[in-house]
Amino acid sequence: MTSRLDCEVLDRDDPLSSLRKEFVLADELIYLDGNSLGPVSAAVKRRVNEVIDSEWATGLVRSWNSAGWMAAPTALGDRVAPLIGARPGEVLVADTLTFLIAKLLGAALHLRPDRHVIITDEANFHSDLYIIEAVAKRAGRPIEVQVLNRKDIPAALNDDVALVELTHVDFRTGEMLDLFGITKAVHDVGALMFWDFAHSAGAVPLDVTGANVDFAAGCGYKYLNAGPGAPAFAYIRREWQSQMENPLPGWLGHVRPFDFELDYEPATGMQAFVTSSPSIIAMAALDGSLETWEKTTMNEVRTKSLALTDLFIELVEQRVPGAFEIVTPREHAKRGSQVALRHDHAYAIVQALIERNVIGDFRDPDICRFGFTPLYLRYVDVYDAVDVLVDVMNNKAYLDERFSVRNPVT
Ligand SMILES: *Cc1c(COP(=O)(O)O)cnc(C)c1O
Repeated sequence: MTSRLDCEVLDRDDPLSSLRKEFVLADELIYLDGNSLGPVSAAVKRRVNEVIDSEWATGLVRSWNSAGWMAAPTALGDRVAPLIGARPGEVLVADTLTFLIAKLLGAALHLRPDRHVIITDEANFHSDLYIIEAVAKRAGRPIEVQVLNRKDIPAALNDDVALVELTHVDFRTGEMLDLFGITKAVHDVGALMFWDFAHSAGAVPLDVTGANVDFAAGCGYKYLNAGPGAPAFAYIRREWQSQMENPLPGWLGHVRPFDFELDYEPATGMQAFVTSSPSIIAMAALDGSLETWEKTTMNEVRTKSLALTDLFIELVEQRVPGAFEIVTPREHAKRGSQVALRHDHAYAIVQALIERNVIGDFRDPDICRFGFTPLYLRYVDVYDAVDVLVDVMNNKAYLDERFSVRNPVT
């Protein structure tokens, strides 16, 4: 069995160990929820303050030009691009994820005017399901949304299908889907592939170029650590951009926004998918958080992520055998950067852990979810978190009544 001493050795030899000190994290806290909201870093604080104190306070309106505010959505997009394997000019930072899904989906449907089916996964995130239904309803032609069990999707692919939208890493179970294989199968029937990378960007290496992905979008506030409600990112494969029309056009996607023309004429490239003024202070936070990402590679992050999740699974199995169903796949190729444990008292267990400074979260109906974020998590954190979990389970601390009161955010 891996000992705490073994974990200390692993931390000593960890090539990412120097990055932890960039984050503001209380010593007594073990944060296993960076998949829901990443922590703040010194660079984020610095960039947000710089933007407020010099670009906004001093530069005022001049900063739209002098500080590059106007170009922020595409400039930041180019810095997010390496995290998903995109080329320059293919990624935009704007809005939040659900809005970007709506824009991309609305535009994509027009690329397949002779097809009437959208396929998605019944285990998809609810916001994806709501917005897919809403866009389909307003597509200007009858669109049928098929919400399927993911194992039934390959058989449902045919030449009626316009588009398939899937979340690449399941937000509940942590299962990672086959980016290359599914994208190819979708293309084989002439349909388009849209991946939601909310739990993938910054969690696993991605190669949208190699996999030939058409569209993708993801969050800024989860693994990317850009703060609550951070702007999201959208990817449109270069070859599609000139054929796509932003269904929510606004002045900042116009080719000449300051000519105030009556008719909309889209800018070229991803800029056309900007609708309104970029949220500059929120973008400053992403700018700062990307500084940390630029000090490593996704391959390095992945190696440590798998080691951390392997260690967690191994320790849980050895120290509280049989207590949980381990829902996350053991197979590395099918695992994101989180581990989900199923238990009838999942909510109360998570609450008992939080009271003991181990922060995970609960996903309805019975999942304890733990995110593993290699930029700042240590192997000893995994060890100590399991120590606390063992204590909670062996003493049945979760049976205390106060842990069964549901908070609005779980
Ligand atoms: C977090 C999440 C969203 C919601 O993102 P918003 O930025 O709040 O719209 C959508 N889809 C998935 C898969 C998510 O995990």
